[in-house]
Amino acid sequence: MKKVENIAYAGLTRFIENGEGEKELLLWVENDLSKTSFSYSYFETMSNRIAGILQEIGVNPGDTVSLFIPRSPMLISCFFAVLKNAAISSILFSTLGEAGLLDRLSNSNARVIITKKSLLRKIISIKHQLPTLERILVVDIDEDQNDHVLSLKRLLSKSSSAFDYPHSLDAETPAFLQYTSGSTGKPKGALHVHGAIADIEKSFKEIMQLQADDLYWCTADPAWITGLVYGIIAPFTTAARQLQYNGTYNADNWLKLLEQEKVTVWYTAPTALRMLMQEEESKFSQRDFQHLKRMYSVGEPLNPEIYHWGKRIFGVEVYDNWWQSETGSMMIANRPPMKVKPGSMGKPREGIESFICDENMRLLPPGKQGLLCLHKGWGSMFRGYFHNDTAYAEKFHGDIYVAGDLAFTDSDGYFWYVSRADDVINTAGHLVGPFEVESALLEIPEIADVAVIGADDPIMHKRIVAFVKLRSGAAWSKELELKCRVHVSNKVSTSAIPAEFHMIEQVPKNQSGKILRRVLKAVYEGKDPGDTSTME
Ligand code: ATP
Ligand code: MG
Repeated sequence: MKKVENIAYAGLTRFIENGEGEKELLLWVENDLSKTSFSYSYFETMSNRIAGILQEIGVNPGDTVSLFIPRSPMLISCFFAVLKNAAISSILFSTLGEAGLLDRLSNSNARVIITKKSLLRKIISIKHQLPTLERILVVDIDEDQNDHVLSLKRLLSKSSSAFDYPHSLDAETPAFLQYTSGSTGKPKGALHVHGAIADIEKSFKEIMQLQADDLYWCTADPAWITGLVYGIIAPFTTAARQLQYNGTYNADNWLKLLEQEKVTVWYTAPTALRMLMQEEESKFSQRDFQHLKRMYSVGEPLNPEIYHWGKRIFGVEVYDNWWQSETGSMMIANRPPMKVKPGSMGKPREGIESFICDENMRLLPPGKQGLLCLHKGWGSMFRGYFHNDTAYAEKFHGDIYVAGDLAFTDSDGYFWYVSRADDVINTAGHLVGPFEVESALLEIPEIADVAVIGADDPIMHKRIVAFVKLRSGAAWSKELELKCRVHVSNKVSTSAIPAEFHMIEQVPKNQSGKILRRVLKAVYEGKDPGDTSTME
């Protein structure tokens, strides 16, 4: 069996051995903009202490430990502590409600959960339904509540700062379990192994191309694959200097941080850019983003309108990239020195074989829309959906992984996203992707945000329905509707013109900022919206 470095060794211990323990690698910024610097030594010691505690309470290799705490240096230490025990880390959004939490904890068979006092109530109320859950470690209570609910604070005060663990292990040893974003249905637990490390590092270097003097900022929460892989694992194992902000979207704080901390490489998501786009232009013109070298975007298609806006406002290139919880690392990406084609997700990275097939797995030529596929076997590929072998098997046709998205290539080898396979709208025999209609509508100045779905229609099979959030001060009118219809017709096609427009306050999104079209669709059709555990 192939051996690899434990991700915790590659991300922490190795640097201590090399004498780089005091190197500052993380600038942590709180909501109130107070800052703390962290070194490898800090995380090595903290994770050693927690690893010892986990071992003492009986965590064995292969057990799942759930981390149900908000993003924090503590969360990072816990993640590495779990890996040092060769157990499986499962980071969960701290915003999850009881039902969502129950789904994930019972699917993962978590034996231990680390949490915060303010979140404890949610776990206690479902604990009787979780027979495998033995211990709850609470980071911020002073005393144990009983034999099951222990104070991590107290345990830490008497823990050892040393922890011996095998620095290398079988490449196939499970390392982390990442629940998908739940955009198309109930989230699935994608299981990843320590052997993913080489691909994660390689992709980070090839796409982000950080230099020693760069300051990198990934805005994603570690409960989403992007925040874990490119917010913790890749920057730690490659010694990238990074900033993390302990908070959700806040335009003033974000812009202040970009300027004052001199962020050079910024990895964010279309939803964040879309929110920024709704702010007054003066907020941007007041600031100086001269240190920023480039931006990256992931998670949803980057509409050309947002791309052009970002480029104009920040004065740098915006590189979109495509990957999934299942792929474990970036698969298709724009990166320097490539020429960006606005609206395209770029080209497969080195060593990744990506192509478009029809439903019979026949290769399609450039220009033909079909299923986005990857040749199986890249290192960071998920090794299963936890306790759901059927769903895993359904994703493969022999050696081909079918991602569940529709796309096409062009003659230069660029990939263009169309939609999720579930979201494509068959209207009167024409296939329309919601993304292209949304992109066109976003170009209308009065429209701040928009989501498009296909609703059942007795004549057209599906009719296109647009849910529009207007910019503040704008009002919906017959003229504006006409303008929208003409614009979609010119930009996309006449068959893509929405049959209905509905005004909404907010486009429903999940915690990683993706539009929950299935929820809009269900509500519109008066049906059960299904799993809403990931909804913001
Ligand atoms: P679920 O699988 O539970 O429905 P999800 O697919 O949103 O949720 P993730 O693994 O977080 O869960 O997201 C991967 C998906 O996000 C991709 O399959 C694709 O649909 C979308 N996506 C990611 N990056 C891009 C991008 N650059 N352009 C277009 N779509 C993207
Ligand atoms: Mg998915």
